Amino acid sequence: MKIAVLAGDGIGPEITEQAVRVLKALATDGLRIEMEQAPVGGAGVDAAGDPLPEGTVRLAEQSDAILFGAVGGPKYDTLARPQRPEQGLLRLRKHFDLFANLRPAIVYEELAHASTLKPEVVAGLDLLILRELTGDIYFGQPRGVRVNEAGEREGFDTMRYTEPEIRRIAHSAFLAARKRARRVCSVDKANVLETTQFWRDVVTDVHKEYGDVELTHMYVDNAAMQLVRNPKQFDVIVTGNMFGDILSDEASMLTGSIGMLPSASLNAKNFGLYEPIHGSAPDIAGKGVANPLATILSAAMLLRYSLNQEEAALRVEKAVRGVLAQGLRTADIAEPGKRTVGTREMGDAVLALL
Ligand code: NAD
Repeated sequence: MKIAVLAGDGIGPEITEQAVRVLKALATDGLRIEMEQAPVGGAGVDAAGDPLPEGTVRLAEQSDAILFGAVGGPKYDTLARPQRPEQGLLRLRKHFDLFANLRPAIVYEELAHASTLKPEVVAGLDLLILRELTGDIYFGQPRGVRVNEAGEREGFDTMRYTEPEIRRIAHSAFLAARKRARRVCSVDKANVLETTQFWRDVVTDVHKEYGDVELTHMYVDNAAMQLVRNPKQFDVIVTGNMFGDILSDEASMLTGSIGMLPSASLNAKNFGLYEPIHGSAPDIAGKGVANPLATILSAAMLLRYSLNQEEAALRVEKAVRGVLAQGLRTADIAEPGKRTVGTREMGDAVLALL
């Protein structure tokens, strides 16, 4: 099994290094993993004048999954749009048709205090948001600003989903639920929007193939409220691009710690790009203080979803829980009475528990 390691910019290389050490440790334990690095984002611009160099795409094509750090930084902010670091990520998503964005929101008991919600509401939360990433009103045509028949300027976008697009994300949701508590809540606005009534009908139809998974439906306004009222009622939430954009950010903040949250973007063949949800954090880059746990947990997702190594994924997640239980904290999750450690020391602790 081969993994393309695209560390990127800012804290990207520091945090990715720790995840690579974890994967290497598993490899010495019998898992056959080969890893190769290539530049992306600003590093791609520096190395080859392109945020997604040819060689990087080729390496990714020859791999089973991509482990991605983060891209971007002040040095690149004045470049023309096609040269900007984030284009490297957007082009990778497009190139590999990564339509399913998985964002778990997990609140470890030890970090429940970090949330802005009451600890008893979030402690033990383990929720997976599955957001469709390549369709919906973000890509629908026509769109623009025009002058209408009354001579007024108006802006317009088109919400659009094809049946195959809904089917494949619904399958992803039911399959992901099978690896969890087997409950899917599909979020829509079927009371108002035709597109999302269609979404509900298609998801309901796909569900016929998954008798072992429970399916419920919820309107997006209610889902936004339920996420802060009682988030632990959810197992998997599946929704379209726009609703998912908003709900996944809301859900990530239930946990209160940006340095802890992993993500995956998958295509129909379970090829995936795995990355922490945070950015390149230029303010702390090079200082050795960034939290590597989101990236290490992204590597666990890579093992689970692209390499089908559930046992290895669980081992990594257990080791992360273990270091938190030991009281180790990086600066972003620091708390009185606990030991604050740097990026590498946190990596060392995870390795020791593995
Ligand atoms: P950011 O996520 O990089 O940082 C926000 C804040 O969180 C900063 O104070 C940072 O120090 C802190 N932080 C982030 N990750 C951390 C970690 N692992 N440990 C400790 N603290 C952490 O967001 P930003 O500052 O808005 O963006 C910085 C750059 O990252 C920009 O160039 C932006 O375009 C880019 N970005 C990239 C991605 C990506 O690569 N997927 C995502 C978001 C932003």
